[in-house]
Amino acid sequence: MSYPLRSRISLALVKKQLPRLMTADPAGELPDGLHVAIVGSGSPLPDVRRGTPCAAIIVNGKIFVVDAGEGASETMARMQLAPGRIEAVLMTHFHSDHIGGLGTVNLQRWVADGDRPALPVIGPEGTDRLVNGLNEAYALDRSYRVGHHGPDVVTPDNGAMDARVFSIPEGEDSMVVLEDDGLTVTAFVVQHPPIEPALGYRFDYKGRSAVISGDTNYSPTLIEAARDTDLLVHDALSTELLMMVSDAARDAGLPARSQILADVPDYHATAPEAADAAREAGAGALAITHIVPPLPLKGLEAIFLGDAEERFDGPLWLARDGDLYSLPAGGGELKRSNLISRR
Ligand SMILES: [Zn+2]
Ligand SMILES: [Zn+2]
Repeated sequence: MSYPLRSRISLALVKKQLPRLMTADPAGELPDGLHVAIVGSGSPLPDVRRGTPCAAIIVNGKIFVVDAGEGASETMARMQLAPGRIEAVLMTHFHSDHIGGLGTVNLQRWVADGDRPALPVIGPEGTDRLVNGLNEAYALDRSYRVGHHGPDVVTPDNGAMDARVFSIPEGEDSMVVLEDDGLTVTAFVVQHPPIEPALGYRFDYKGRSAVISGDTNYSPTLIEAARDTDLLVHDALSTELLMMVSDAARDAGLPARSQILADVPDYHATAPEAADAAREAGAGALAITHIVPPLPLKGLEAIFLGDAEERFDGPLWLARDGDLYSLPAGGGELKRSNLISRR
């Protein structure tokens, strides 16, 4: 069959691109340092620009994933972050927007490199229930793939995730949960009532540090844990914009949706509060993520931020999916790029 000229050109272009796409590995090419990639910068509210919460901390070519919202593995693929490099997943809490993509993240890692040991999923009490449930949900899929591709390609023993539960001792607000090749990961308590436990994570490597807040309102324990960090990644919402959506839902005869939206401000900081936390912690820079509600027009960003930029005098950004914040080992400036838009 002879295809039209346009199709033949398209085919030739794709064929030319494929070798580069197959070998692309930005995580393996990063210089020595602590690198924070934002995979999903949105929330449970559908947003064409932002996926649900997920961050990837890259150190020594290893990827440590924090939460895995729906679409996490698809966005990581768009960022060309190789799933075989995932070392562990860390869970902040178990709201649906933080767990919906975990099964696929694990699947993609397993089929990318069947020799890797089972994926450790590190988190507070509840991690075992999540992991056991997903392992069961994916049991048939694993059996299909082993049957189809063979145990040499997809090692059966490595397909199910490995829950590693920790609990912060009574009276303490933080604890070290992982040490790996110069990297120290510290979990700390945040305030996301009524969800308990709700955690954030601090990553320290060769004199650099970054903090992922998880979901929290303005939290003194976060400020303590984020002391002098180079980069604070903090969730935020706009009460004004969210209530506008809630009112519209009520007026449209959707009382349950209206109520749920109206309840959300209880448990997330606003952007000005995130800026307060960054200032009080002495953070070097602030990236705001978990953006609620979606901001479909650029002009809404100033409303979302309020007076945040007056409250924190370091660099402050609204995170986008694909953002990469790089902190060179030992010192030097934070460099910001985007792994999706640079392609
Ligand atoms: Zn939450
Ligand atoms: Zn959330």
